Amino acid sequence: MDRLYLIKYGELSLKGKNRKDFENRVRDDIRMKLSDLPIKFRRDWGRLYLYPPPSDQAPDASCRIESTLAHTFGIVGFSKSYAVAKNIEEIQGAACALAEGLMRSRGKRFKIEARRSDKSFPHSSYDICCILGDRLRSRFPELKVDLNRPDWIMQVEVRKRVYVYGSSAKAPGGLPLGASGRGLLLLSGGIDSPVAGYLMAKRGLAMDAVYFHTPPYTSEQAREKVQLLAGILSSYATGLRLWIVPFTEIQLRINKAAHKEATTLLVRAAMLTIADRLAHLHEYDCLVTGESLGQVASQTVQSLHFTGSYTGVPLFRPLIGMDKAEIIQLAHDIGTFETSILPYEDCCTLFAPDHPVVRPEINRMVSSFRSLGLEGSIAQAVAQTTEESVAG
Ligand code: ATP
Ligand code: MG
Repeated sequence: MDRLYLIKYGELSLKGKNRKDFENRVRDDIRMKLSDLPIKFRRDWGRLYLYPPPSDQAPDASCRIESTLAHTFGIVGFSKSYAVAKNIEEIQGAACALAEGLMRSRGKRFKIEARRSDKSFPHSSYDICCILGDRLRSRFPELKVDLNRPDWIMQVEVRKRVYVYGSSAKAPGGLPLGASGRGLLLLSGGIDSPVAGYLMAKRGLAMDAVYFHTPPYTSEQAREKVQLLAGILSSYATGLRLWIVPFTEIQLRINKAAHKEATTLLVRAAMLTIADRLAHLHEYDCLVTGESLGQVASQTVQSLHFTGSYTGVPLFRPLIGMDKAEIIQLAHDIGTFETSILPYEDCCTLFAPDHPVVRPEINRMVSSFRSLGLEGSIAQAVAQTTEESVAG
């Protein structure tokens, strides 16, 4: 009798010829996240099976595996299951072992659901339910069948082997990481950009992040906060790296030379120009920001048109149609909110004008940006960009 995790794919079951590639990506993502554990995989008809290491070799492996699967895109759920040969005595043994635990944790009323994909197995689904129901009640007389309001449901699936399991845990769905290419997330210490990164990673975008740092106006703690956020994101976007761009000189030159009302937009244009250069240097397919339509002056249609004109690669703003309350809810769900609200200053708020331009005229803004003559400073900032460790 084996103990294993039965993993259910999500949308990738629709993907025809790419299916194998998608399945490999899911497996490789899990393998990379758990690279220190001796786990094994097997694939079978739209399912992935993960074999954990023996519990004496890795006593806390179950927790690690379950938390990893709950953060893995491309799968919708998983169940810790018994796997036995197609033999009714063995199935009964697994059912008793599972029921013993469920009875203690959930209650006494139960129901069995059986599915038989392998029709050569001599017992019908209905027979399997009856045989197992009788066996469980004779082994544990306090158990009661309750088809309408059971405390727990036992699932039995007859495939190449027979799988017996209780409840399934949820995984986030989406597409396997990397199936949609690689992107670069502009990650500030705020609430929005980590959520934007999560949403794009969920649609299969493997991702690194870039932070524009403005010391001494923004502190080391502000940078550490971004490292923490990058760490949380990397539990979904496996392998996420963090770039830090030294941005003080550019910020000060803009503050000095530009009209105060236009500074935020010009700073955004400089950030996107640099991010676009990094995308070419490191072969990212796109950029991602946490902007949402109308949230602030730099996020009106006209402002987004202007700032967006500074990228050659596609720029995605996955929060564009979301309300702040919805974004905050997602930030809670993915575990970034508490870190995002830590009280460290953000260069954008520090230098924000009191009356920013709301509907910029794009040609005028483009010439203001050009007249700043930032080319040398931008090239220098790109050259001095460094990689920072991701807190984890
Ligand atoms: P966030 O909550 O992500 O900070 P926000 O609503 O506060 O977003 P802004 O501060 O105007 O909006 O920033 C808009 C977007 O620009 C951010 O979502 C982020 O993608 C990017 N951005 C802003 N500041 C930085 C920074 N210092 N480093 C990296 N990206 C930044
Ligand atoms: Mg911000």
